[in-house]
Amino acid sequence: MLRRVLLIGMLMLTTTSCSSASDDVTPHVVLGIHGGIGEDKKDMTPELEAKVRAGLNAALKAGKAKLDAGGSSLDAVESAIRSMEDDPVFNAGKGAVFTHEGRNELDASIMDGKTKKAGSVASVMIIKNPITAARAVMEKSKHVMLIGRGAEIFATKQDLEIVDPSYFWTEHQWKRIQEIWKREADGKQAKADLPAEQVPQIDASRFGTVGAVAIDKSGNLAAGTSTGGMTNKMQGRLGDSPIIGAGTYADNDAAAISCTGHGEFFIRYAVSHDIVAQIKYKKVSAKDAAEDVINKQLKDAGGEGAAIVLDKSGQFTTARNTEGMYRGWISSDGTIQVRIYDK
Ligand code: ASP
Repeated sequence: MLRRVLLIGMLMLTTTSCSSASDDVTPHVVLGIHGGIGEDKKDMTPELEAKVRAGLNAALKAGKAKLDAGGSSLDAVESAIRSMEDDPVFNAGKGAVFTHEGRNELDASIMDGKTKKAGSVASVMIIKNPITAARAVMEKSKHVMLIGRGAEIFATKQDLEIVDPSYFWTEHQWKRIQEIWKREADGKQAKADLPAEQVPQIDASRFGTVGAVAIDKSGNLAAGTSTGGMTNKMQGRLGDSPIIGAGTYADNDAAAISCTGHGEFFIRYAVSHDIVAQIKYKKVSAKDAAEDVINKQLKDAGGEGAAIVLDKSGQFTTARNTEGMYRGWISSDGTIQVRIYDK
């Protein structure tokens, strides 16, 4: 008898520790968002947690208001992301991390699941809301991606809000890069130009990108992502966030995806497109596709990160191989869910 109880106990423990860190599928969702992987649980404070939850709630409400007013999924995605770009708690827009050289270089992308049109900007330093610039590239230029100075000139001509680079400076991110510089100077931290596999955990644990996926009344999907990238990144480095098919993808025949995590892996594994392709061609569920890519392929490769997925029937799910992800979703009836770790 005792042996049987022990055996059942062991089985239960094994099942718990093997379960993947993901949310169940929620139906009737119209907007899902993430605010990056965020802090490890041990570093989370009640103050930060309150700010994160407030920021996610505000973004969900901003995006839902657009949908309620008859706006498109693109409007909802842009508005939710703008809300998080303006909130210094997230690593996008104000609050972006610093590069190795001590600058803020921002990336963003957006995609329309109906037309498969897409736009992105990368390595921009004076555009207040990079997601709006990405949308302008999609709708008002003949290109998909503009980088650096060219993107900034385009945004200026489009009358988008331009700010001094110092607008993006925040004390908490400045402290963070200074700690890294100090460790580098002391020889305690490897340099910024290491291969992805060797980037120390201390950097890798600082992800905080924002993203959104939405579906509107016409059944059109959209996805978008915006980031300051990874702390201590080399000047000119791009991650997955501005790359269509890596950090962002939307296809009305399958799903809308936004990712966060160690960008080099997400580019190499074409994560958002792979999830869509599995749903579309292998006919697997959004949940199974996301689990396969995030908790199998990426995990095996050592790539940390997560994805949010909204499929064409309004079912929302997430997959992550990390301790947490700042995230939330809102249903058609206005019910909001916001989570950081398991809750
Ligand atoms: N994926 C982003 C990048 O590599 C970082 C993040 O998600 O926080 O630039």
